[in-house]
Amino acid sequence: MSLIDLRSDTVTQPTAGMREAMQRAELGDDVYGEDPTVNRLEASLAERLGFEAALFVPTGTMSNLLGLMAHCERGDEYIVGQQAHTYKYEGGGAAVLGSIQPQPIDGEADGSLDLGRVEAAIKQDDFHFARTRLLALENTMQGKVLPLEYLAAARELTRRRGLGLHLDGARLYNAAVKQGVDAREITRHFDSVSVCLSKGLGAPVGSVLCGSAALIAKARRLRKMVGGGMRQAGLLAAAGLYALDHQVERLAEDHANAERLGSGLRELGHDVEPVQTNMVYVQVGDQARALGEFLASQGIRVSPAARLRLVTHLDVQAADIARVIEAFAAFRRA
Ligand SMILES: *Cc1c(COP(=O)(O)O)cnc(C)c1O
Repeated sequence: MSLIDLRSDTVTQPTAGMREAMQRAELGDDVYGEDPTVNRLEASLAERLGFEAALFVPTGTMSNLLGLMAHCERGDEYIVGQQAHTYKYEGGGAAVLGSIQPQPIDGEADGSLDLGRVEAAIKQDDFHFARTRLLALENTMQGKVLPLEYLAAARELTRRRGLGLHLDGARLYNAAVKQGVDAREITRHFDSVSVCLSKGLGAPVGSVLCGSAALIAKARRLRKMVGGGMRQAGLLAAAGLYALDHQVERLAEDHANAERLGSGLRELGHDVEPVQTNMVYVQVGDQARALGEFLASQGIRVSPAARLRLVTHLDVQAADIARVIEAFAAFRRA
């Protein structure tokens, strides 16, 4: 019985083609700027997303941190969602390492931040206050795709109020594939974008920060400072390039599998949130632990929670979805 791991889209194994690309990669010392594969990845993603420059980093956490620190100085502030990854799941790095004050605001059901609330949170120019410099959005946000008109409105607001606009686009390509648009239609609204190669795209390691040449030059200095300067990193960048060339369009399969899983669980009577991309959220309440143990006994891994998150990815096949639905049904019968 093969294992089905629905905890996250970070659990994927590199595909055969990806391993081959890594094997063939030309390498150099990237701290000297001499790794041709890293240089190619950075140039390629900057071009694909419409930015002047890009920087390869080990993780999305570092990519976001460098982005926030490149926009904000000590004593500045960024506006962010209460549930946003940069605020909630990155060890408070912006505050700890950047001396940047977060101003969290409650998110909306569709994954956006209400722009009226954002504007109300911008502080006046007064020495009592931190200087509000930046708005950070996340797309997809818990699997939800931010509408393009919303992004345009966020751009308009931040331009009018003199703020930068950063996107935590860990799953940018899930959003673009779902909306059926070139990723640039999303990224053109932002001053900086962080993209994870190690989520749905299926690379083993790596994220990329994109922005203006000046912003990326600043981020490159900060990357060295936080210990993110890697040497023959082309081995990893090759995986990222392969993912961008071969594993973007297939995200639609993950979305279809998630959709199928969501409707299967709904048919069993479960309370399932509307599914947009590769995440299915199911209310399982105090059954979480027992369900998690039962699923584990069936070779299905989840992270038990009352609001259970199930994530599809390239190591989950359509046939696996049927097995998962059957396991939920068996748990109900037991
Ligand atoms: C995973 C993730 C990150 C951080 O990526 P790591 O590589 O795990 O540090 C940032 N933002 C979002 C939305 C993520 O899902």
